[in-house]
Amino acid sequence: MPHRIALLIATALLATAVPAQAAKAPATMRVYALDCGRIEFKDLGNFSDTGEYDGKPGTLAEPCFLVRHPKGDLLWDTGLGDHFAATPGGEEVRPGVRAIVDRPLIAQLKQLGVAPADIEFLSFSHFHWDHTGNANAFAQSTWLLSRREVDVLESPHLPPNVKPDTFSARTQAKVDLIDLDRDVFGDGTVKILRANGHTAGHQVLQLKLAKAGTVILSGDLFHTRENFEQERMPVFNDSRGETLGSIDRIKRILKNTNGRLVIQHDPGDFKVLPKIPAYLD
Ligand SMILES: [Zn+2]
Repeated sequence: MPHRIALLIATALLATAVPAQAAKAPATMRVYALDCGRIEFKDLGNFSDTGEYDGKPGTLAEPCFLVRHPKGDLLWDTGLGDHFAATPGGEEVRPGVRAIVDRPLIAQLKQLGVAPADIEFLSFSHFHWDHTGNANAFAQSTWLLSRREVDVLESPHLPPNVKPDTFSARTQAKVDLIDLDRDVFGDGTVKILRANGHTAGHQVLQLKLAKAGTVILSGDLFHTRENFEQERMPVFNDSRGETLGSIDRIKRILKNTNGRLVIQHDPGDFKVLPKIPAYLD
Protein backbone atom coordinates (compact mmCIF):
# COMPACT_ATOMS: atom_id res chain seq x y z
CA MET A 1 0.00 0.00 0.00
CA PRO A 2 1.45 3.38 -0.95
CA HIS A 3 2.48 5.33 2.09
CA ARG A 4 0.10 8.23 1.39
CA ILE A 5 -2.99 6.02 1.19
CA ALA A 6 -2.01 4.23 4.40
CA LEU A 7 -1.68 7.59 6.07
CA LEU A 8 -5.12 8.68 4.83
CA ILE A 9 -6.71 5.50 6.17
CA ALA A 10 -4.93 5.91 9.50
CA THR A 11 -6.15 9.53 9.70
CA ALA A 12 -9.72 8.47 8.91
CA LEU A 13 -9.61 5.77 11.60
CA LEU A 14 -8.24 8.26 14.09
CA ALA A 15 -11.01 10.73 13.25
CA THR A 16 -13.71 8.17 14.07
CA ALA A 17 -11.97 7.27 17.33
CA VAL A 18 -11.91 10.88 18.58
CA PRO A 19 -14.87 11.70 20.89
CA ALA A 20 -17.60 13.93 19.52
CA GLN A 21 -16.32 17.47 19.13
CA ALA A 22 -18.41 20.35 20.41
CA ALA A 23 -21.02 21.05 17.76
CA LYS A 24 -20.03 24.11 15.76
CA ALA A 25 -22.23 27.19 15.93
CA PRO A 26 -24.88 26.97 13.19
CA ALA A 27 -24.95 29.53 10.36
CA THR A 28 -28.52 30.45 11.27
CA MET A 29 -30.21 30.38 14.65
CA ARG A 30 -31.75 27.15 15.95
CA VAL A 31 -33.87 26.47 19.00
CA TYR A 32 -33.93 23.06 20.66
CA ALA A 33 -36.73 22.15 23.09
CA LEU A 34 -35.34 19.88 25.79
CA ASP A 35 -37.45 17.70 28.07
CA CYS A 36 -36.46 18.74 31.59
CA GLY A 37 -39.24 16.80 33.33
CA ARG A 38 -42.85 17.18 34.36
CA ILE A 39 -44.83 17.74 37.55
CA GLU A 40 -48.06 15.89 38.31
CA PHE A 41 -50.55 17.60 40.62
CA LYS A 42 -53.46 15.88 42.35
CA ASP A 43 -55.06 19.32 42.58
CA LEU A 44 -54.18 22.09 40.12
CA GLY A 45 -56.28 24.60 42.11
CA ASN A 46 -53.40 26.97 42.87
CA PHE A 47 -52.92 27.66 39.15
CA SER A 48 -55.98 29.86 38.95
CA ASP A 49 -56.87 32.38 41.66
CA THR A 50 -60.48 32.43 40.46
CA GLY A 51 -61.26 28.78 41.18
CA GLU A 52 -61.48 27.13 37.75
CA TYR A 53 -58.96 24.39 38.60
CA ASP A 54 -60.08 23.66 42.16
CA GLY A 55 -59.99 19.93 42.85
CA LYS A 56 -58.87 19.05 39.32
CA PRO A 57 -55.68 17.05 38.71
CA GLY A 58 -53.18 18.04 36.01
CA THR A 59 -49.65 17.80 34.69
CA LEU A 60 -47.24 20.62 33.88
CA ALA A 61 -44.44 20.15 31.34
CA GLU A 62 -40.98 21.35 32.43
CA PRO A 63 -38.95 22.13 29.31
CA CYS A 64 -35.59 23.86 28.91
CA PHE A 65 -34.53 25.55 25.68
CA LEU A 66 -31.14 25.69 24.00
CA VAL A 67 -30.83 28.63 21.62
CA ARG A 68 -27.90 28.15 19.23
CA HIS A 69 -27.13 31.53 17.68
CA PRO A 70 -24.19 32.02 15.29
CA LYS A 71 -22.56 34.19 17.98
CA GLY A 72 -23.11 31.79 20.88
CA ASP A 73 -25.44 29.58 22.88
CA LEU A 74 -28.09 30.56 25.40
CA LEU A 75 -29.77 28.09 27.74
CA TRP A 76 -33.20 29.28 28.88
CA ASP A 77 -34.34 27.66 32.15
CA THR A 78 -32.79 24.52 33.60
CA GLY A 79 -35.75 22.36 34.65
CA LEU A 80 -36.40 20.25 37.71
CA GLY A 81 -32.91 18.87 38.25
CA ASP A 82 -31.26 15.78 36.80
CA HIS A 83 -31.07 14.12 40.24
CA PHE A 84 -34.80 13.30 39.88
CA ALA A 85 -33.91 10.95 37.01
CA ALA A 86 -32.36 8.57 39.55
CA THR A 87 -35.86 7.72 40.83
CA PRO A 88 -37.98 6.10 38.11
CA GLY A 89 -41.55 7.31 38.53
CA GLY A 90 -40.32 10.47 40.21
CA GLU A 91 -40.42 11.84 43.73
CA GLU A 92 -43.24 13.29 45.77
CA VAL A 93 -41.90 16.79 46.49
CA ARG A 94 -45.00 17.83 48.44
CA PRO A 95 -48.16 15.87 49.28
CA GLY A 96 -50.00 15.43 45.97
CA VAL A 97 -47.14 16.85 43.89
CA ARG A 98 -44.80 14.51 42.00
CA ALA A 99 -41.66 15.60 40.09
CA ILE A 100 -40.52 13.29 37.29
CA VAL A 101 -37.45 13.47 35.04
CA ASP A 102 -37.17 10.78 32.37
CA ARG A 103 -33.96 11.97 30.75
CA PRO A 104 -31.23 14.18 32.23
CA LEU A 105 -30.66 17.57 30.63
CA ILE A 106 -26.92 16.96 30.46
CA ALA A 107 -27.48 13.78 28.39
CA GLN A 108 -29.70 15.69 25.97
CA LEU A 109 -27.07 18.40 25.53
CA LYS A 110 -24.47 15.69 24.92
CA GLN A 111 -26.66 14.21 22.21
CA LEU A 112 -26.46 17.63 20.52
CA GLY A 113 -22.68 17.72 20.92
CA VAL A 114 -22.85 20.47 23.56
CA ALA A 115 -21.13 20.35 26.96
CA PRO A 116 -22.26 22.70 29.75
CA ALA A 117 -18.94 24.57 29.51
CA ASP A 118 -19.64 25.32 25.80
CA ILE A 119 -22.73 27.39 26.66
CA GLU A 120 -21.96 31.11 26.73
CA PHE A 121 -25.16 32.39 28.36
CA LEU A 122 -27.62 31.09 30.93
CA SER A 123 -30.88 32.82 31.73
CA PHE A 124 -34.05 32.03 33.66
CA SER A 125 -37.64 33.11 33.28
CA HIS A 126 -37.54 33.33 37.10
CA PHE A 127 -36.02 31.68 40.15
CA HIS A 128 -38.74 29.15 41.09
CA TRP A 129 -37.10 25.80 41.81
CA ASP A 130 -38.60 24.03 38.79
CA HIS A 131 -36.61 26.39 36.54
CA THR A 132 -33.30 26.36 38.42
CA GLY A 133 -32.83 22.62 39.02
CA ASN A 134 -29.70 22.14 36.89
CA ALA A 135 -28.30 25.66 37.13
CA ASN A 136 -25.20 24.67 39.08
CA ALA A 137 -23.91 22.70 36.07
CA PHE A 138 -23.44 26.01 34.22
CA ALA A 139 -21.07 27.90 36.50
CA GLN A 140 -18.85 28.68 33.49
CA SER A 141 -21.62 30.48 31.56
CA THR A 142 -22.45 34.16 31.90
CA TRP A 143 -25.69 34.39 33.86
CA LEU A 144 -28.13 36.96 32.47
CA LEU A 145 -30.34 37.72 35.46
CA SER A 146 -33.18 40.10 36.17
CA ARG A 147 -32.00 42.69 38.68
CA ARG A 148 -35.42 42.71 40.35
CA GLU A 149 -35.35 38.94 40.71
CA VAL A 150 -31.89 39.10 42.31
CA ASP A 151 -32.91 41.97 44.61
CA VAL A 152 -35.80 39.90 45.98
CA LEU A 153 -33.53 36.90 46.39
CA GLU A 154 -31.16 39.00 48.48
CA SER A 155 -33.91 40.57 50.60
CA PRO A 156 -34.54 39.23 54.13
CA HIS A 157 -37.74 37.46 53.03
CA LEU A 158 -37.07 34.63 50.63
CA PRO A 159 -40.04 34.29 48.26
CA PRO A 160 -41.91 30.95 48.14
CA ASN A 161 -40.92 28.18 45.71
CA VAL A 162 -37.29 29.35 45.55
CA LYS A 163 -34.47 26.96 46.52
CA PRO A 164 -31.27 29.01 46.46
CA ASP A 165 -29.07 25.91 46.78
CA THR A 166 -30.21 24.79 43.30
CA PHE A 167 -28.48 27.83 41.81
CA SER A 168 -25.77 28.57 44.35
CA ALA A 169 -23.20 28.70 41.49
CA ARG A 170 -24.54 32.22 40.89
CA THR A 171 -22.04 33.48 43.42
CA GLN A 172 -19.08 32.13 41.37
CA ALA A 173 -20.46 32.69 37.88
CA LYS A 174 -20.09 35.87 35.86
CA VAL A 175 -23.42 37.69 36.34
CA ASP A 176 -24.82 40.33 34.01
CA LEU A 177 -27.90 42.03 35.50
CA ILE A 178 -30.84 43.06 33.31
CA ASP A 179 -32.84 46.16 34.25
CA LEU A 180 -35.49 46.23 31.52
CA ASP A 181 -35.16 44.16 28.34
CA ARG A 182 -31.98 42.64 26.88
CA ASP A 183 -31.08 42.08 23.22
CA VAL A 184 -28.67 39.19 23.94
CA PHE A 185 -26.67 39.14 20.69
CA GLY A 186 -27.35 42.74 19.59
CA ASP A 187 -29.19 41.78 16.39
CA GLY A 188 -32.78 41.60 17.66
CA THR A 189 -33.09 37.84 17.25
CA VAL A 190 -32.89 36.89 20.94
CA LYS A 191 -34.53 39.26 23.40
CA ILE A 192 -35.19 38.76 27.07
CA LEU A 193 -38.30 40.80 27.85
CA ARG A 194 -39.44 42.02 31.22
CA ALA A 195 -42.81 40.43 32.02
CA ASN A 196 -42.99 40.66 35.78
CA GLY A 197 -45.84 39.70 38.07
CA HIS A 198 -45.51 35.94 38.46
CA THR A 199 -42.38 36.88 40.38
CA ALA A 200 -40.92 40.34 40.89
CA GLY A 201 -38.43 39.98 38.04
CA HIS A 202 -40.12 37.43 35.79
CA GLN A 203 -39.11 37.56 32.13
CA VAL A 204 -39.97 35.88 28.82
CA LEU A 205 -37.79 35.10 25.79
CA GLN A 206 -38.58 36.47 22.34
CA LEU A 207 -36.90 34.72 19.40
CA LYS A 208 -36.88 35.82 15.77
CA LEU A 209 -36.25 32.78 13.60
CA ALA A 210 -35.67 32.68 9.83
CA LYS A 211 -38.41 30.13 9.09
CA ALA A 212 -40.53 29.91 12.24
CA GLY A 213 -40.79 33.70 12.65
CA THR A 214 -41.30 35.23 16.07
CA VAL A 215 -41.61 32.74 18.91
CA ILE A 216 -42.10 33.77 22.53
CA LEU A 217 -41.23 31.36 25.32
CA SER A 218 -43.68 32.23 28.08
CA GLY A 219 -41.81 31.35 31.24
CA ASP A 220 -44.60 31.23 33.83
CA LEU A 221 -46.56 34.22 32.55
CA PHE A 222 -49.09 31.48 31.69
CA HIS A 223 -49.11 27.87 32.88
CA THR A 224 -51.82 26.55 30.57
CA ARG A 225 -53.35 27.45 27.21
CA GLU A 226 -56.66 28.12 29.00
CA ASN A 227 -55.00 30.58 31.35
CA PHE A 228 -53.65 32.43 28.29
CA GLU A 229 -57.04 32.52 26.60
CA GLN A 230 -58.90 33.51 29.76
CA GLU A 231 -56.15 35.77 31.24
CA ARG A 232 -56.10 33.73 34.45
CA MET A 233 -53.18 33.42 36.82
CA PRO A 234 -51.97 31.43 39.83
CA VAL A 235 -52.87 32.14 43.44
CA PHE A 236 -49.17 32.46 44.29
CA ASN A 237 -48.23 35.20 41.82
CA ASP A 238 -46.23 38.06 43.30
CA SER A 239 -48.54 40.73 41.83
CA ARG A 240 -51.90 40.31 40.09
CA GLY A 241 -51.74 43.83 38.67
CA GLU A 242 -48.21 43.50 37.27
CA THR A 243 -49.13 40.14 35.75
CA LEU A 244 -52.10 41.71 33.93
CA GLY A 245 -49.76 44.42 32.64
CA SER A 246 -47.33 41.79 31.36
CA ILE A 247 -50.15 39.78 29.75
CA ASP A 248 -51.21 42.94 27.92
CA ARG A 249 -47.66 43.60 26.74
CA ILE A 250 -46.98 40.09 25.48
CA LYS A 251 -50.37 39.75 23.76
CA ARG A 252 -49.69 43.01 21.89
CA ILE A 253 -46.22 41.86 20.82
CA LEU A 254 -47.66 38.54 19.60
CA LYS A 255 -50.22 40.44 17.55
CA ASN A 256 -47.69 42.92 16.14
CA THR A 257 -45.21 40.21 15.13
CA ASN A 258 -47.77 37.56 14.15
CA GLY A 259 -45.84 35.56 16.70
CA ARG A 260 -46.25 32.10 18.19
CA LEU A 261 -46.47 31.71 21.96
CA VAL A 262 -45.00 28.60 23.53
CA ILE A 263 -46.52 28.13 26.98
CA GLN A 264 -43.68 26.32 28.62
CA HIS A 265 -45.70 24.43 31.23
CA ASP A 266 -48.50 23.40 28.85
CA PRO A 267 -47.92 19.75 27.83
CA GLY A 268 -49.80 20.32 24.56
CA ASP A 269 -47.53 23.22 23.59
CA PHE A 270 -44.42 21.15 24.37
CA LYS A 271 -45.69 18.10 22.49
CA VAL A 272 -45.96 19.93 19.15
CA LEU A 273 -42.39 21.29 19.30
CA PRO A 274 -39.70 19.39 17.34
CA LYS A 275 -38.00 16.65 19.38
CA ILE A 276 -34.20 16.75 19.54
CA PRO A 277 -32.12 16.45 17.44
CA ALA A 278 -34.77 18.29 15.40
CA TYR A 279 -35.14 22.02 16.07
CA LEU A 280 -37.00 25.21 15.20
CA ASP A 281 -35.16 27.53 12.84
ZN1 LIG B 1 -42.67 27.06 36.68
